[in-house]
Amino acid sequence: MVRSRIVGICGSDVHAALGSHPHIPLPYRPGDEVVGVVEAPGAGASGVAVGSRAGGTELVLR
Ligand SMILES: [Zn+2]
Repeated sequence: MVRSRIVGICGSDVHAALGSHPHIPLPYRPGDEVVGVVEAPGAGASGVAVGSRAGGTELVLR
């Protein structure tokens, strides 16, 4: 599990939040680029320590 610290807002987020993105329906919660801290490594994770910085897209971190 990664606790997010900073979330980026990109152009796709803006279009989605305004309802003008062709593939993302409303309601939409903007912010799909995330940097945070590992609170609990996932099952099977190796070389990841609690407190390590982690980042990725929302889809990667789920
Ligand atoms: Zn984005």
